Amino acid sequence: MLSELRIQKVKKSRLPEVDLDSLGFGNVFCDHMFVMDYADGRWGQPQIRPFGPLPIEPGAGGLHYGQAVFEGLKAFRGTDGVIRVFRPDKNIERLRASCARLCIPCIDDDVFHEVIQQLIRLDHEWIPRKRGQSFYIRPIIFSTESHLEVRPSTTYCFAVITSPVRQYFDSTIPAVALKVEEQYTRAAPGGVGFAKTGGNYAASLLPSAASREEGFDQVLWLDGAEHKYVEEVGQMNIFFKIKDCVITPPLLGTILHGVMRDTVLTLLREDGHCCEERRIPIEEIAQAIHDGDLIEAFGAGTAAVISPVGRIEYRGEEMEINNSKPGQLTRALYEEITAIQYGDIEDRHGWNTLVVLDGTTSQAVPATA
Ligand SMILES: *Cc1c(COP(=O)(O)O)cnc(C)c1O
Repeated sequence: MLSELRIQKVKKSRLPEVDLDSLGFGNVFCDHMFVMDYADGRWGQPQIRPFGPLPIEPGAGGLHYGQAVFEGLKAFRGTDGVIRVFRPDKNIERLRASCARLCIPCIDDDVFHEVIQQLIRLDHEWIPRKRGQSFYIRPIIFSTESHLEVRPSTTYCFAVITSPVRQYFDSTIPAVALKVEEQYTRAAPGGVGFAKTGGNYAASLLPSAASREEGFDQVLWLDGAEHKYVEEVGQMNIFFKIKDCVITPPLLGTILHGVMRDTVLTLLREDGHCCEERRIPIEEIAQAIHDGDLIEAFGAGTAAVISPVGRIEYRGEEMEINNSKPGQLTRALYEEITAIQYGDIEDRHGWNTLVVLDGTTSQAVPATA
């Protein structure tokens, strides 16, 4: 599918200037990026070229009306040297759903997978070697046609940039503090809450900044219609363990179909754990904390994998969960998922896509792909 791929390599890698031990999240970008434009009803020449600015018309629809979608996934360098991409099939599936909602033409599955393989082959030295660090892959599609009429664009750009990222979870760091957001909403029924599109993020910036000023790490979003049911935490899906059952909000159109959410539910169910996907009134959470029934809570997402929740503020009351420490299940899930991602335990579900480098590198090439 990418047979006509044109590759322009950097003359000199920037990698020697990068300190992989002091990474943030997405503040350093790898040497190469992928770019492909859409016009006349089809995707054009696929190209990999040095990371750098993209020319854009000031009238481009993506800038004015937000016709743009993105994805986020990670590759890991295993202890065995093998490079694994975690569940990319779920990301292209979600990208297709996001594109459909925003009237954006999507790319084919095989193009998506091939682009990731090609970029990693070129920039595999950028994949950090320390456990917990990883290689973040950010595909975007945005409209480029210069017009101010409100209608779907006829031209688009699909680009993929990559970035080495730091470890997120550290059990010595206190669990996150959440503020229940009762004024603002992230998404409304019938809107674009399930799509990975920039508008949802733009809408979240003001409430997030306000909560941080008050000393919280993240916002706990409630539903847009009644401000009654829990939806997401920051940019993660939320899970609560009440007594011995784990609950998470259902996919009713206003929350993201998180890959990590699906991963957590799959592992818990296989383990015979009680799991429910249902609407969760915030009052039920407050009551469970008061009754001592809320055992632990965590957010799930590609960036952090699992992020423990230590405190929730609701209507002026500070409620602590598990003494602000990561719970047992939170830790166990983090350990199991990262062990799969780094190839330490068997990948029973076939979640990892292996990256095969050519024979000229010293990287291990898996015996079976
Ligand atoms: C991306 C995202 C998530 C997490 O999805 P993953 O596929 O698990 O990374 C959750 N909520 C929002 C709003 C997101 O944008």
